[in-house]
Order: sequence, then structure tokens, then C-alpha cells
Amino acid sequence: ELILGIESSCDETSVAVVKDGKIILSNIVASQIKSHKRFGGVVPEVASRHHVEQITRCIEQSLQEAQITKKELTAVAVTYGPGLVGALLIGVQAAKAFAWANDLPLVPVNHMAGHIYAARFEKPLQFPLLALVVSGGHTELVYMKEDASYEVLGETRDDAAGEAYDKVGRVMGLSYPSGKEIDQLAHLGTDRYHFPRAMLQEDNFDFSFSGLKSAFINLVHNSEQRQETLSQEDLAASFQASVVEVLVKKTIRAAKTYPVKQLIVAGGVAANQGLRETMKQKVSAELPDKTLIIPPLRLCGDNAAMIAAAGHVEFIQNKRADLALNACPGLSF
Ligand code: ATP
Ligand code: MG
Ligand code: FE
Repeated sequence: ELILGIESSCDETSVAVVKDGKIILSNIVASQIKSHKRFGGVVPEVASRHHVEQITRCIEQSLQEAQITKKELTAVAVTYGPGLVGALLIGVQAAKAFAWANDLPLVPVNHMAGHIYAARFEKPLQFPLLALVVSGGHTELVYMKEDASYEVLGETRDDAAGEAYDKVGRVMGLSYPSGKEIDQLAHLGTDRYHFPRAMLQEDNFDFSFSGLKSAFINLVHNSEQRQETLSQEDLAASFQASVVEVLVKKTIRAAKTYPVKQLIVAGGVAANQGLRETMKQKVSAELPDKTLIIPPLRLCGDNAAMIAAAGHVEFIQNKRADLALNACPGLSF
């Protein structure tokens, strides 16, 4: 079974061919980051335009790299939400046209399910499992009792983790998106400023990062007024220590509350080295009988291979869309 995956929810145009939901034959990712950098964030209109320009080439290139013809495909899976409406529509329309022209079934995929199923390329999934999904727009703990079944145990009440990285990075004068650069700086500094650990003591699985962001901004502004310069490395290390501690502790607590066999960390922020290292240490120390799966770096950020992997599961369960499929920018589990 060969699934063509199409992803265009934000600022990556991506098309992939995946075999049996677990073998990547191709995964073309056209990133628009350069075009958005000078605006300090993703500009929806610019994103849509890039998707239009890139989508056809990405489809052709993914088939070529996979060395297959359109006739060999089994289905087309496409992200229909959540994301930017104008960006999503380009992928959805391309997928509909491609499915119709080649007489293929069309499978609608939730982008966040895609992030979780990126873990399938590492290891087969065993249920029940717990997934921490941390990305530019989301921070949530998801309980899955079986394939394609999602129960949100908790989520952020304000900013997403990736969003907090990007906002704090802006204050530090770093370019967008700043998650990776803060991660690198953090490894050179220490947790000198010890920012608050939000909602750690509360008896729920929700998160909050806006207080941390404010504490960070206040510290920077106050020191600017006193004409002191703070160490970028220590700022980064202190910010990251707060984010990582909350994410790891709440995830471990949820994994002790629910009878899970596996833990998944997924989404763009799962590329964070500090988070990956701390999560590995804590899981092996506190939950030695549970398996931790974190997708490889290149599959943490947005890509179509993960959409095809989630699409494979939905395809088997007979989920189909027709040509009336629309983009759902606010789609949730
Ligand atoms: P969503 O998936 O919620 O719709 P998105 O698709 O825009 O949002 P992703 O592409 O999954 O988000 O992730 C992008 C985010 O990941 C950005 O906020 C970026 O700063 C962050 N990020 C990337 N690498 C790292 C890293 N090493 N450390 C921390 N954050 C990182
Ligand atoms: Mg992106
Ligand atoms: Fe994403």
C-alpha cells in the first residue's frame, strides 16, 4: 500500500510517499522560513502564495524520488486542519484534484495526529499510549487507547511552547523561528534566573507559558533600564529549564496516572535537545517499564511523511473525504 501525503498547514509545503504507514520512500519539504524571517513570523498571505508556487513541483518530485508512478498509489492523505486557512486550502485543493484525476480515495488527516504518528517511523506503536505534542501552535497531552483514538488530558491555557520560544527569541534579538537557536545557547549557560514553573503544583494536565514569557520580558527590560547586559546563554538556559521541567514533570505524572505502555514526544519542539535528553533520563529513571519514542529531528517539524503515516491508519479504518472536503483551521481532536 502506497500513500501520497500532502501537507500545507503553515509554512512548509511538503509531499511524501509512504509505504504501509511506516516506510518513507520520499519526503519533500519546501520550507518558506526565509521569506517569513524578515517579518518576524509567518505572514498568511505570503504562505499561501508560496504553497501555490511549490505544490505541483513537490508532488512531481516526491513521486520521482520514490520511483513510483501515479498508478501505483493506493490513496491520497491530506492535512485539512488545524492551520492557516489559506495555506491549508492549497494542499486540500491539490489533493482533491490529484485524487479525482487519478481515481484515488481521499483521506482527511488532522495535522496534530500527523505529528504523533511521526513516531511510527521509529517504532511500532503500542496502546494505550500517552503523547506530549509540543509545537508552534499547540502544547497538549493526548491519551490514545488505540489507533486513531485521541483524548486530550490537558493543554496550554495560553501560549504554546514553540510560540513561547519564538516570542522570547524576538526579545533576545534572535531571528524567527528561534527555538533551535535558544536550544543551542541554553547548552552554554546555566539556570541562573530560575523563572517560575507554571502550574506544576496544580492537580491537572494543563500548561501555561505566558507567565514565563512575561517574567522573561520583565527581567530583560529592567536590566536594559539599568543599562546592564544579561548573558544570552544564561537567559536561554533559564527559559529552557523552566519549559523543560514543566513539560517533563507533567508528562511523567500523566504517565503514572494512566495505564500507558509507551510515551511519545512529538511536534516541532520535540526537536529540542534539552527536552529530549531530560525526558530520556526521567523516563528511564522513573518509568523503566515504559518505552519512550521521539521522532528523529527531521520528522519533528512539519512534513508530509507524518501525514501519510496518520493517513494510513485512517485509510485502514475506512475514513474518506469527498470532493466537498474543506479546510478546518480550528480543527481539534
Ligand atoms: P502546529 O503544529 O501546532 O500547527 P506548527 O506546525 O507551526 O504548529 P511545528 O512546525 O510543529 O509548528 O513546530 C515549529 C515550532 O518548533 C517553532 O515554534 C520553533 O521555534 C519550534 N522549534 C523548532 N526547533 C526547536 C528546538 N530545537 N527547541 C525548541 N523549539 C523548537
Ligand atoms: Mg513550520
Ligand atoms: Fe506542526
